[in-house]
Amino acid sequence: VPEKRASVDVESVDLIIRNGTVITMNAGREVFPSGSVVVGGSRILAVGDASTEAAYRAERVLDARGGLILPGFVNAHTHVSMAAFRGLADDVEDRLRRFIFPLEKALVNRELVHVGALHGSIEMARSGVTTLADMYYFEDEVARAAKQVGLRAVLGETVIGFPAPDAASPAAALAHAETFIRTFEGDPLITPALAPHAPHTLEADWLRAVERTSAACGVPVLIHLAETKGEVERIRASTGLSPVAYLDRLGLLDERLTAAHCIFVEPEDIALLRSKDVGVAHNMVANIKSAKGVAPVPRMLEEGLRVGLGTDGPMSGNTLDIIGQMGYVAKVHKLILGDATALPASEVVALATIGGARALHMEDRIGSLEAGKLADIVVIGVDSPAMAPIYDVYSALVYAASARDVRTTIVHGRVIVDEGRLLTVDEAEVRNGIEALAQRVRSLVGRLEATGDAAPDATD
Ligand SMILES: [Zn+2]
Repeated sequence: VPEKRASVDVESVDLIIRNGTVITMNAGREVFPSGSVVVGGSRILAVGDASTEAAYRAERVLDARGGLILPGFVNAHTHVSMAAFRGLADDVEDRLRRFIFPLEKALVNRELVHVGALHGSIEMARSGVTTLADMYYFEDEVARAAKQVGLRAVLGETVIGFPAPDAASPAAALAHAETFIRTFEGDPLITPALAPHAPHTLEADWLRAVERTSAACGVPVLIHLAETKGEVERIRASTGLSPVAYLDRLGLLDERLTAAHCIFVEPEDIALLRSKDVGVAHNMVANIKSAKGVAPVPRMLEEGLRVGLGTDGPMSGNTLDIIGQMGYVAKVHKLILGDATALPASEVVALATIGGARALHMEDRIGSLEAGKLADIVVIGVDSPAMAPIYDVYSALVYAASARDVRTTIVHGRVIVDEGRLLTVDEAEVRNGIEALAQRVRSLVGRLEATGDAAPDATD
């Protein structure tokens, strides 16, 4: 960590963000009403009140104009390439088997994954998401897209118990994943990972094999867990265990695992997840839209679990921005508990930032504005009518802000969105690509609806 020199010399740095309310999300939850953040290279050098910048001379000074300066949002669970299927077959039953699996079988290839990931990454960058965790196929294409847009990403190559778009078998998927892991080892933005689809869509032996590969390569594991009643019933019937206890028996619960959903968990499951240091991605909006249920997040937080927020794929949750999740998370838990004090706004902003970092076991590097951490920073404008007046910054962020208020996004010290404009890829070109894909999707969906066909090998 570069230290500020004690002499009267002024240190030359790359970037100072000034003249905004700095919401640090550090352990003391410090807020500097008129503060500055100093960036050198990929890291934050200093954070504090207006006097902080006096010791530095910056190549570039970014005036926040009274906006909110905070750590970038973490989208702890998504399938970004499914942006190609956004809004398709909404409000119907059994979408996974009737639409998602057949569509994936027929259409998912390298091109769709890449264009979908570019499109979704643009949405995330413009809405202040600086890190995403993704589970899909051809994750090397997602990695390319995330890097082109400039996002940080934990990317899990899917291993699933039936033929997938990029692998005919779990063995092939695991081999494919190992190549992917080697390709992106040591990348400053990309953390390659393994993504066993779910405990009931991959056989026990393969789940164990994924765990062995994860340990050998030292990479994270991303999984869907305790997401549906069907999953719980099936695992209970075959093993007598809850999905969480079943994964524990197979040895998958550890500090490398991040589990999405965890809706159907009992107190003993929560205790198990806590004792094994597993991260949880809470996908409230997608989960309530599909009427699956709501994970007991207040209870998880009481127990000290690592919990972050995710959007799930844009075919499930429709949007990829985390700002849009926060209001639901705050309000639905209040409703369920009948308690207006449940999940206060400051705690929800923590879930969206440092909580997401913790869920991905990356809190030593990202998730808060602190000297020494990576410079993943957003500036949210306060010009829109909904953002005035502000009596409490957390309340404004959770209950009034929208993704469109994001003005600046910085990842790894690089400004990728400036004054709402993406600087890294040609948005019009990506837009044309996604529209062309949508044409192919429309014609296939027409055929699916006509035949009522479902994926013959889909298990759930
Ligand atoms: Zn998912």
